[in-house]
Amino acid sequence: TTPNGHRAKEEKIVVTVRLRPLNKRELSAKDHAAWDCVDDHTIIYRPLPHERAAQPASFTFDKVFGPDSITEAVYEEGVKNVALSSLMGINATIFAYGQTSSGKTYTMKGITEKAVNDIYSHIMSTPEREFRIRISGLEIYNENVRDLLNSESGRNLKLLDDPEKGTVVEKLVEETASNDQHLRHLISICEAQRQVGETALNDTSSRSHQIIRLTIESTHRESSDCVRSYVASLNFVDLAGSERASQTNADGARLREGCHINLSLMTLTTVIRKLSCLLQWITYSITAVLQSDWFISISFFLPASSHVEQSRNTLFFATRAK
Ligand code: ADP
Ligand code: MG
Repeated sequence: TTPNGHRAKEEKIVVTVRLRPLNKRELSAKDHAAWDCVDDHTIIYRPLPHERAAQPASFTFDKVFGPDSITEAVYEEGVKNVALSSLMGINATIFAYGQTSSGKTYTMKGITEKAVNDIYSHIMSTPEREFRIRISGLEIYNENVRDLLNSESGRNLKLLDDPEKGTVVEKLVEETASNDQHLRHLISICEAQRQVGETALNDTSSRSHQIIRLTIESTHRESSDCVRSYVASLNFVDLAGSERASQTNADGARLREGCHINLSLMTLTTVIRKLSCLLQWITYSITAVLQSDWFISISFFLPASSHVEQSRNTLFFATRAK
């Protein structure tokens, strides 16, 4: 239990998919788009006539965003309410999963920016409450944890068990944002830090998980005796490329199973268990981050037919997260 009265009764899981347009390289290689979004919830794979072995398949999600969709729509329709619920003490995680180059970072960056804008508009229109926003950023690469707000700290922060807070990252810097501009600046430091690592370590971004966590607290300015204080965290998780994990999961039974998906609702715990066995290299600090009331997973995959096996795996993963 948390000090606030607004904790969601049960975890909510929203599973969405975004498909980016073919890029110049794919177009010039005469690759073709193998996937169609036939409505807001359904995506289908259409094999080319010569791909005899491949079966057409259809997948259903809470929401699918096709190649013409804009990040604004992904945010407005899939993320906004959940992001804003963190202002009322409800923990939320937005989670990007998919192959390298499928658009995870592109979308997460846009979503984070839009969430920050909305959070500060809400703060402006709620003068009776005093808000405090803290941010921390970390990168997990091969079990090593790096602080994205503290370039001095090296790559080896320790994970500790805190009796009250659960798993915590030792010495992780947490900055308090003084206003929206300051918060955007701190987020840009995290993004830049990640890129520094990328050039130094040769394409780390496809192998590292990045987490930006906002902790949002608020109290009523006047009614001090019946204070409604809220505290919640809003996590933006940009996962490492899924390609290696999914290779181990390519089997025919699952391919068939995915054709008719039963979208039953499961608890977040089940999702975490599935995530941790599918994504074996995920360290337990991510599990800690995922202990949210709200959980939105956005899966990404490569639209071109040359990547169809990987893309199917991503979709099977996404459907199994439900
Ligand atoms: P990932 O983080 O999954 O490896 P990126 O987000 O870096 O992939 O995207 C790979 C490339 O595709 C980038 O150049 C990015 O700008 C571009 N891209 C990704 N998603 C879209 C999109 N929805 N529309 C246009 N370009 C996109
Ligand atoms: Mg990326």
